[in-house]
Amino acid sequence: MFIDTHMHEMTYSKDSFLKLDQMVSIARQKGLGGICITDHDSMGLKEYAAEYAARTGFPVFVGIEFFSLQGDIVAFGIDEYPKERIPAQDFIDLVKAQGGVCFAAHPFRNNNRGLEDNLRRVHGLDGLEVLNGSTSADACRKAAEYALELGLFTLGSSDCHIPEKVGVCATYFPEEVHTMQEFLAAFKKGGMKPAYYTEGGYQVIDIKNSVNLRAAWI
Ligand SMILES: [Zn+2]
Repeated sequence: MFIDTHMHEMTYSKDSFLKLDQMVSIARQKGLGGICITDHDSMGLKEYAAEYAARTGFPVFVGIEFFSLQGDIVAFGIDEYPKERIPAQDFIDLVKAQGGVCFAAHPFRNNNRGLEDNLRRVHGLDGLEVLNGSTSADACRKAAEYALELGLFTLGSSDCHIPEKVGVCATYFPEEVHTMQEFLAAFKKGGMKPAYYTEGGYQVIDIKNSVNLRAAWI
């Protein structure tokens, strides 16, 4: 199934123009099986999203995009998170201590919010976002090279803040997941692949074939 693993909802991400209902509606149209709300330094939507998912039957997984001192990290499966910026390694350790999973968001985006070469210095990341709908092809390609080098799981996500971006990229999960427990278990097992939306469906990318990655962004 395909899940957009990094998205922003306007209630708690002040730079987003998206409401959950609209996000789910577009996600359904594109064929996504679930979405992830990963607001900036907030998990405020958690209760509402759980209620919404139960009512509609559409999986909504709430995580967080935490701006560590070295860059953005997306995490799931945690209850507690720091109220101020802390070193990336400390945040990763905190996620692991709570049994959660995390991935580096847009590590080479040119806005100083990616981990960049800190990827080689931190330990415990589960994955790396190699396809981000709001990041250049070059930066995505570089992320893919690091994922291969470091042996990290590969994610794709839209990082959407506006309707046009919802679901433009997504992650292929080998199994169907509906609950957060299933999502975390699948995430820890691995086998995820980045994908992008084209001509009415999702195209999975083999990151070992960089030509493919380039084609996705021309
Ligand atoms: Zn984001």
